[in-house]
Amino acid sequence: MEKREQIYEGKAKILYTTDNPDLLIQYFKDDATAFNAAKKGSIHDKGIINNKISTKIFEYLIAHGIPTHFEKSLSDREMLVKRVQIVPLEVIIRNVAAGSLSRILGIEEGTSLACPVLEFCYKEDKLNDPMINETHIRALKLATDEDVEQIKKYTLKINELMLKFFSSLNIKLIDFKLEFGKYKGKVILADEISPDTCRLWDAKTGDKLDKDRFRRDLGNIEEAYQEVLSRVSR
Ligand code: UDP
Repeated sequence: MEKREQIYEGKAKILYTTDNPDLLIQYFKDDATAFNAAKKGSIHDKGIINNKISTKIFEYLIAHGIPTHFEKSLSDREMLVKRVQIVPLEVIIRNVAAGSLSRILGIEEGTSLACPVLEFCYKEDKLNDPMINETHIRALKLATDEDVEQIKKYTLKINELMLKFFSSLNIKLIDFKLEFGKYKGKVILADEISPDTCRLWDAKTGDKLDKDRFRRDLGNIEEAYQEVLSRVSR
């Protein structure tokens, strides 16, 4: 499958058209940003590592009945994906308090939550992706009620599957972010799932194996991402 035209460049990925109007090539870059691109950098080979981790996770989710945009892996940095209309929401699900939840609600990082917490953010960089609720989504017509229901169901199911998956690799899944798209009228999972979009803590040591190493200048970023890849590959 050949790349035709670049149609989008984001912070971590580039999308290209292909000969098939229903399919795009998703290319993973090494660029890293945090705090809505206020902090910028690059993580050596991150694109390769995240492409491979995302591929493994998408394959696992597909095998367990979750529809995703993933079609197949093409190269070290490229996967073939379905061309979707992105729903302009970042869907965050949390099992353990960390990051903005800890900050906003004053809950110490690492505190288990009695049930998964689901949050929506409006995907709009110039507003800093503000947190919104379902009535905002309805009022702003960001998604239909049916699509929101489907997104919530998939997100909870994906969380259950991912908790099992990572726990078998001795990794604690703290929280993660999902994006969904519409394809031929249906909601499907899109974007990526990687240490850029999840908080992953080593189950034994508590070591952070995710983008917090970059956000918080903890060092050994590539090593941490590589560690996740080697565990998901075994
Ligand atoms: N997250 C993401 N992209 C974003 C915002 C959050 O992938 O634009 C992920 C983040 O990596 C974490 C989870 O969503 O796994 C929850 O992030 P949080 O709101 O705590 O973000 P923080 O304020 O700490 O950046």
